[in-house]
Formats: sequence, C-alpha cells, structure tokens
Amino acid sequence: MERGISHLTLPGDILDQNKISPAALSVIRTLNSAGYEAYLVGGGVRDLLMDKLPKDFDVVTNARPETVKRLCRHSMIIGRRFKLVHVTEKGTLIEVATFRKGNTYEDSDNVGMLTSDNTYSNDITDDAIRRDFSINGFYYSPADNVIHDYLGGISDLLHEKIDIVGDPDVRFSEDPVRMIRAYRFSAKLGFGITPRTRSAIFRNITDLAQVNNNRMYEEFNKMFLTGHGEASFQLLMRDGIMQNLLTDMGPLIKSRQFFDFISCCLRNTDARHAEGKHNMPHFLYAVMLWPLTRKLYLKMGTVPKYSSLKETDRMAMAGRIVLDRQSVITKIPEFVAQDIIDIWKMQIILTNEAVMNDQEQIETVVWKEIFRAGLEFLMNRVHMDENLERIITFWTDTYYNHIPQSLRTRKALVSSNKARNQESRNSRSEGVRTRRNASSGKRSRTRKTGI
Ligand code: ATP
Ligand code: MG
Repeated sequence: MERGISHLTLPGDILDQNKISPAALSVIRTLNSAGYEAYLVGGGVRDLLMDKLPKDFDVVTNARPETVKRLCRHSMIIGRRFKLVHVTEKGTLIEVATFRKGNTYEDSDNVGMLTSDNTYSNDITDDAIRRDFSINGFYYSPADNVIHDYLGGISDLLHEKIDIVGDPDVRFSEDPVRMIRAYRFSAKLGFGITPRTRSAIFRNITDLAQVNNNRMYEEFNKMFLTGHGEASFQLLMRDGIMQNLLTDMGPLIKSRQFFDFISCCLRNTDARHAEGKHNMPHFLYAVMLWPLTRKLYLKMGTVPKYSSLKETDRMAMAGRIVLDRQSVITKIPEFVAQDIIDIWKMQIILTNEAVMNDQEQIETVVWKEIFRAGLEFLMNRVHMDENLERIITFWTDTYYNHIPQSLRTRKALVSSNKARNQESRNSRSEGVRTRRNASSGKRSRTRKTGI
C-alpha cells in the first residue's frame, strides 16, 4: 500500500541549533538572500531530530546548479548529467542539490537503474517523493525556523520505523540499492523496517545484482565501517540478504563459524569507530572473504597442480580468484585488493614455525608494512582457533621489541622504509656495506626472498 503526501510543519526549536554546521547555514542564507528557497535536508535533519551529531549536512534548493555556483564563492559543479554543487565554506564541504523530479537518485555519475525522466523542479514535494525513506525527507528552513515533513517522517521517527516512500516495489526496482540502505538505517538507528518495506525487499532482492559495482562498494563500506557493522551484518543474515552481498558463499553462509567470526571482527571494527579510529576497507574485505578464500586455498592444496605451489603463492591465487569474483558485486579498487592479498599471505607466514625460529626471517617479516594489519587479522582469528594465542603473543612481543614507537603507524613505516631503501641504494652504489643492530630498533639490511 502506498502512503500519500501530507504536510506537517514543526517548530525548528526542537532541533539543537548549536549542532548545525555554520557553513550550511551560511550557504542557505546566501541562496535565500538571492530570492531562492533553500533547506537543510536528509540525514542531517534526521540525526538532529534524534539528538545525534550529524556527520554531514546536505542543502537542497530551487536554484539551478549554475546559479548556486555563481552565488556561492569557493564552489564547483560536479557530475555531468546530474549536477550538484560542492561549496566549501570555512573548510567544510556542503553539497547543494537542486530540487528534482524523476525516478532515480544519483549523487554523481554513479548510475542507478532508470536514468531517464530526471529533470529539475521548482516544487519541493517533487523532491520529497524521490527520497528513499520517510525519515530521510525532512526539510529544515532556518529563515523561518520551520521543519517541513511531507512524508509522515516524524510519526515514523517516533515509532522507530524505516518506511520506504511510495510504492515499495516501484521504488526498489527503480533503485535496488535502497533495499540495503534500509538495513543500514535499521542498524544505525536501531529502528525496525516496516512489513510492507521488508516484504518488498524479499520480492526484489535479486535486482541488487544489477546495481553498478562501484556504487555497491561505497554502500558496502558505509554499511560495515561506520560504527554499526555488527548490527548491519546480523540483520542482513537474519533476512538472508548477506549472500547477495558476498560472492559464491554457498553453504558456508549458514555456518555458525562464519557467523561468529564475522560478528566478532565487526564488533572490533565498531569499537575502533567508537574510539574515533579510521576503519579501512581492506581489513573489512579481508575479514568478510576470509572463510571463502581459506576454503579455496585448502581445496587447492589437495589438487596436484596447485599443491606444488609455494603456500603464499597458492594463497595469493585463491585470494585473487575470490576478489575478482567479489568485484562483480562490489568493485574493489586494485590497491585495496593488493593489501587484502598481502594480509592473507601474512597469515601463512605468521603461522609458519620455521619463520618464527629464524631470526633473519623474523626481521624481514616484522618490518613489512602490511605486518601490523596481518597481525591484527590474526588476532581476530583467535576466537575461532585458540592455538593461535601463542603465535600472536610471539609476534606482538617481536613487534614491540623491533619497531620503535614513532614508526608504529603505517604512514611512518612506509616513509621510513622508503628512506632506508634509498639509503641502502646509495651505500650500495658507493660500495659501502653497513650493518645495523636490530636491538637498537633498526633492521638488518639482509633481505630474504620467499617471504
Ligand atoms: P548518513 O548520515 O548515514 O549519511 P544520509 O541519510 O545522510 O545518512 P546519504 O547517503 O548521505 O544518507 O544520502 C543523503 C540523503 O539523500 C538521504 O537522506 C536521502 O534523502 C537521499 N538519498 C540518498 N540515496 C538515495 C536513494 N538511493 N534513493 C532515494 N533517496 C536517496
Ligand atoms: Mg549523509
């Protein structure tokens, strides 16, 4: 059943005005002064209504992009077919969109499903009915301090519901990404998805396969890296949607081990986010695809033509196969894929007793830029395999004994390694051979191939 359009106005005083970005307010003032309508819209207003600090603010106006650009200093138009204006005010980026009507919702040139019929509009209600969920369609006008709700959003917010705007089947077939956004907001806000929205998701979920894989990559990252990863995962698992986001999982998706391992890793990721730490996609994908990659790696070990390969090469090959297949769904950038494979290869190296008993190899491993991510990954695996505990203690101690505090970030280590390599090239060309003492926090120059 479709819900119609209504118009409720709420006093702006219910928002904590101090949490509103001065930059967004200034852009709105500029547009208002030139005679245009302009509002704060979307997730920013929703979060303010929930007393949360919004992570960004979007502005919508009836001024055309070229006009916005002319009126606002430090602005540029982005997107080719569907233009938006990025305005930078006092170091803050504000995205300004023009009211539109039509079926798709595109934030740049990432195409959704239907791409025709999108035109600018002068009518705010055209813009409102294109929004995905009722709670994402509030418009706040600072000029008269009024919040406009055309979609029954305030009622859904109070009843803690995620409800699609308009006819669910139509809206999901227009843009299937909305289906996984429903789970993202459900997890992020702790709201339930309304039955009409949820049953339409079940009917339309296979359409997800048609979404542009770059766009899916972005949504996947937002889903799992921004503080509500575990809740998102568990909701998606509950509704059997997770297998639409991951490649070739087969029966593995139903295994308790998979569920526990991913839940536990995502719990750690959420905790990092809560501490203000940045979560990286390479770690997320290394986790999500590890059970499948490991299974493939073990399988390859039983096939003669692969079993003769060096273990790290076999792992790299299994990893490459899985990542290429996953990229059909979510396009993983090559530099991220390379890191993921290195993290997986590190699992072979770190659990190799021969490496742990060879001082020279230990030296080489511990200075690798991917070592720390590999070790953190191993730490997540301990919940599945207690035997790893001793190995983790060994490598953790080794790390703290070898790497000085100042080099314990990847950036610092990369530049130090660069400088070291340069220095070593220089000294080689001078024919000078220097040796360094490992215990002083500096590594031996001998490089061992093979790890
Ligand atoms: P978050 O705080 O997590 O970013 P958000 O609501 O701001 O949440 P965005 O992805 O930043 O989400 O999108 C901004 C707004 O644009 C949404 O609130 C919604 O109104 C609209 N929107 C975004 N994507 C779609 C879509 N696929 N279909 C319809 N409306 C959309
Ligand atoms: Mg947003």
